[in-house]
Amino acid sequence: MLISKSFIPILKNNPSEAVIKSHQLMLRVGMIKQSSSGIYSWLPLGFKVMKKIEQVVREEQDRIGVQEILMPTIQSSEIWKESGRYDDYGEEMLRIKDRQNREMLYGPTNEELVTEIFRTSVKSYKSLPQLLYHIQWKFRDELRPRFGIMRCREFYMKDAYSFDLNDEEANFSYNKFFLSYLRTFQRLDLSAIPMAADTGPIGGNLSHEFIILAETGESKIYTDKRIFEVNSKNTKLEKKSLAELRKKYENFYSVTDDKFNKDEFEKNVPNEHRLNTKGIEVGHIFYFGDKYSKPMNASVDFKGKKEFVKMGSYGIGVSRLVGAIIEAKYDDKNEIMKWPISVAPYECAILPLISKNDSSNLEKANKILEFFKSIKIDVIIDDTDENFSSKIKKFNLIGIPFQIMIGKKSEGDKYEFKETGKESKSLSIEEISKIIINQKKNKLITTLEKEIIF
Ligand code: ATP
Ligand code: MG
Repeated sequence: MLISKSFIPILKNNPSEAVIKSHQLMLRVGMIKQSSSGIYSWLPLGFKVMKKIEQVVREEQDRIGVQEILMPTIQSSEIWKESGRYDDYGEEMLRIKDRQNREMLYGPTNEELVTEIFRTSVKSYKSLPQLLYHIQWKFRDELRPRFGIMRCREFYMKDAYSFDLNDEEANFSYNKFFLSYLRTFQRLDLSAIPMAADTGPIGGNLSHEFIILAETGESKIYTDKRIFEVNSKNTKLEKKSLAELRKKYENFYSVTDDKFNKDEFEKNVPNEHRLNTKGIEVGHIFYFGDKYSKPMNASVDFKGKKEFVKMGSYGIGVSRLVGAIIEAKYDDKNEIMKWPISVAPYECAILPLISKNDSSNLEKANKILEFFKSIKIDVIIDDTDENFSSKIKKFNLIGIPFQIMIGKKSEGDKYEFKETGKESKSLSIEEISKIIINQKKNKLITTLEKEIIF
């Protein structure tokens, strides 16, 4: 891609309406454009990042055996009346009438719809467990949309649902998602901690929020710092191994403010390990048993007996993650963003120095682009006639993780190469490609097939 042909509307200065860095940066480098309060269009750079996050999320759902479906954004009010939430949900729900005067709504979540799909098709306990997910737009008419796409009204979410015969099996499903979430956030280079949470309007009795630390976050958190050292590697997708993993986390006091209790915090966490800070909720998992299956009559036949299925739901804020990654990775002071390679809009930027009567550097850049294409490295060339320092500044801001400079300093087959934010080195294209490919490899799944269990 050539920057001159791309749609990346960069602003000279930070927009004044944005108060947190992710919102500022996303507007500044043209990732999003507000269309009305809390509703955004996604421009190429932002859309690319979001799609890459979506793909990581998808792969990690597939890996634990969840099956992808796609439910619509518009739902009928009937099923919400059955569950009793049509009235309970209040003003956050956007209600619409169609031309036949039928009450419809723009889905804020999908427990009812997925239960309706399940109950018409699954009749026997032998078909359980069923794990289903979709990645779809949601609408919640938030009272105060703010911080750009972090708290907006229309947002992109992965939501999954589990159906099991009993509590024990449902707990197994819950724990699979617990592991899957840890893996997802690790691949996004985020350190997200699971915290015991309140179940809120979804209801139920077991719930964890996955939170990343950030001063601009809206959740107050109280945790034991040692929780950051818990390791989820080598956890097998088996009941015992998964239960042990959750226990390792739950051994440490770690809650958001609705569950906070000062005495318990001080009793359980030695002073030097206490951490009281703020964070961003990027995922939330719930177990709520038969809260929806009972009123909606979703049951299976278990040896002649009718059993209401036990359900859980599991959300990840795919669009919020774009902002959350910026909050975690952006170096505000030096104005340097560096996207994790797994979601970077481009993996490498080539910055040739171009003058009016000499385009040889641009030709070199095009040659590298062709080679990188063949080995699947996603590249953008800055083909403007700006000087190096303004090109570097621009790509530091956009956050492309690697940069190749082609100018006076490039000699023979060596080029000036740097990882964004670090010192540059003189390397050949082969050496450079090895570095990029190696980083990419670290973020790929290598044991995908082995772990899928149905
Ligand atoms: P919050 O506490 O932030 O309002 P929630 O608990 O209402 O979120 P859930 O129903 O658990 O949200 O939704 C799952 C995920 O969807 C959240 O963890 C969050 O990442 C994302 N999300 C929820 N509301 C919004 C929103 N208004 N804008 C962007 N993302 C959101
Ligand atoms: Mg939540």
